[in-house]
Amino acid sequence: MNSQTTHQPWSRKEQVNSIANKEFDVLIIGAGASGAGVFLDALSRGLSAAIIDKQDYMAGTSSRSTKLVHGGVRYLEQAVKELNIGKYQLVKEALSERKRMLYMAPHLAWPLNLVTPVKGIIGLPYFRIGLGVYDFLSGSEKIGPSKIENKAALKRICPDLETKSLTGGVSYYDGQFDDARFGISMIRTGIEMGGHALNYTEVSQLTKTAGKVTGVTCKDLQSQSSFDIKAKVVVNTTGPWTDHLREMANPDFKKMMTVSSG
Ligand SMILES: Cc1cc2nc3c(=O)[nH]c(=O)nc-3n(C[C@H](O)[C@H](O)[C@H](O)COP(=O)(O)OP(=O)(O)OC[C@H]3O[C@@H](n4cnc5c(N)ncnc54)[C@H](O)[C@@H]3O)c2cc1C
Repeated sequence: MNSQTTHQPWSRKEQVNSIANKEFDVLIIGAGASGAGVFLDALSRGLSAAIIDKQDYMAGTSSRSTKLVHGGVRYLEQAVKELNIGKYQLVKEALSERKRMLYMAPHLAWPLNLVTPVKGIIGLPYFRIGLGVYDFLSGSEKIGPSKIENKAALKRICPDLETKSLTGGVSYYDGQFDDARFGISMIRTGIEMGGHALNYTEVSQLTKTAGKVTGVTCKDLQSQSSFDIKAKVVVNTTGPWTDHLREMANPDFKKMMTVSSG
């Protein structure tokens, strides 16, 4: 019985040896939320997979989010205003995923009651109708009802809120989650499914065969040693660093990313 099946932590050396100079069906660069999702997806299809990150797992954007598991209430507003079926489908999918996350990992994702203060006479019916549609679309995936709150209720919920200029407020439910722990749980699940993961390992070069990316050269930032990894498919899930990796693949690339911070 090896250390993986007994769930004993591997030594760093064993982890490096399990990946260095090996070949996988899928190699994922970037162990944030996107990379962890691709890792689990590949493994659940019976493919061999490895995931690496130059920092710790989830140390990028995926531990710095607002930590909401939202069904996309503002996309719903855009879907209606722009008559955009794509955004409507996005909301439907997000509502379904929201429920799934809360169901699968109740210790890491839970319902959150949100309150929005509203000004003006049209505000309240506008939000009431919008959130009514949101509740309706949630169907059996609803996690709590939305409702109108009067000024007294707003004051009770948020004592510091200046309510003089408000007409009231609306309360509704979305989810909240521990983004970093959620992602790390996904990586751990992948390892239990036979996947390989290595943090503090930076890709410095992409290797190509007949013009196609077939692997990487990377550096273990702890030992400073370099090694290659080969893969049938190399997936770039480096979030804000996406263009950097694309430039490694093709120096004549066109930038895709416009990064921002919140
Ligand atoms: C301010 C803000 C608030 C947000 N709020 C929410 C929210 O409430 N709810 C929600 O669901 N989403 C939210 N998001 C969106 C969500 O956080 C991101 O969509 C998600 O974290 C992106 O994950 P990622 O894996 O694509 O990127 P990242 O998490 O950034 O992962 C990329 C990884 O690639 C690694 N990497 C880069 N270059 C290399 C290299 N050369 N070699 C090896 N590894 C490399 C990095 O170290 C990093 O860990 C928010 C985003 C922002 C910016």
